[in-house]
Amino acid sequence: MNYKLPNDRQVVDALKKVLSEHKTINSQTKLQHLVTEELKKREPLYNISEKRLRVIAVRTNFVSIKIFTRDTEEKTPERCPVCTTPLKYPSKEWESEIASEYVCSLCSYRTGKTKRVPVRYRFSLVVNYHSLNPNGF
Ligand SMILES: [Zn+2]
Repeated sequence: MNYKLPNDRQVVDALKKVLSEHKTINSQTKLQHLVTEELKKREPLYNISEKRLRVIAVRTNFVSIKIFTRDTEEKTPERCPVCTTPLKYPSKEWESEIASEYVCSLCSYRTGKTKRVPVRYRFSLVVNYHSLNPNGF
């Protein structure tokens, strides 16, 4: 394997630097390119997948993610397709049609009675994030 994996802390630092510079990035691919460039300044062999980067970004307190989805006929997923959190649907309400939408507790992914597939992401820097959670990333 001709690459190395950065640790989460290094990814968070690179992500913070990139978003501080760009404020908003309209594509996951572009974010991955910019963060990889930043990581390679430390170690030329560093690489990160778009998925790992997204999952780390969701868990920080300085990234706001807007998720664009499309509807499908598939059944609702067991895990959030954005951040992999297991989704525990409020079964009773869900079945009795009181709830028509379900939101992931960690990111803002929403799904209806059928699966919504994420098609695009927008990543933005949260202003004043330091005041939100001093113990966060
Ligand atoms: Zn999620």
